Amino acid sequence: MTQPAHIANFTADNPGMMTLQGTNQYIVGKDSAVVIDVALSSDGNMDGIIEQAEAMGVKKIEKILLTHIHIDHCGGALALKKRTGAKLGIHRSRAGYLGEEDFRYDDQDRIPFGGGELQVLHTPGHESGHCCFYESGDKVLFSGDNILGFGTAVIHPPDGNMTDYLQSLERLLEFNIDLILPGHGPLVGKPEAKISAGLQRVAEFSVQAHLEKLIRDERVKREDRRYHLLGH
Ligand SMILES: [Zn+2]
Repeated sequence: MTQPAHIANFTADNPGMMTLQGTNQYIVGKDSAVVIDVALSSDGNMDGIIEQAEAMGVKKIEKILLTHIHIDHCGGALALKKRTGAKLGIHRSRAGYLGEEDFRYDDQDRIPFGGGELQVLHTPGHESGHCCFYESGDKVLFSGDNILGFGTAVIHPPDGNMTDYLQSLERLLEFNIDLILPGHGPLVGKPEAKISAGLQRVAEFSVQAHLEKLIRDERVKREDRRYHLLGH
């Protein structure tokens, strides 16, 4: 599946181990648009986002949304706000983090853009205030760092939390998703397989012991090679 015409990506020039080719910064909309994540405050990065938006026919970048507050996702947010006059939003739990946010959002909020709306899904795990954004019209999920184009999301305690992460992945499986646009790496065309693979991969890393504990506590059940959350 290809990206719908009203969605474009400008990848920030910050490639690395954690950021893969660089952070994907998405422009979503038609006349008016929303930008999801701004990694760098450099003029080159601002120009790249704005030129990409103009090429799509966008007249105004209305809002900036952040999947989470790691620097490779929010480092350029204030600069883009200043440059475009866009309103900057942040998850309720991170209010005040950047100092100049214009609005807050929380789970289930709906944020309009020219031609549609994004549903906020608070998906803690990678970071406790992490949000994904779901566009039901095109069945597109902007997954931030909860699901990457390749590899597996990194969970660093104490703010990262594996139990929350598993729960967030399980929840994403309930949505009708045709395409995942991740915070790093290429788009994901078989989302369910990818999300399930994420749940599996979790088990293959150092959290094995943690999962064993959850199984012992009867909070997680293992079936074949998949893990399921119980009691919710
Ligand atoms: Zn990231």
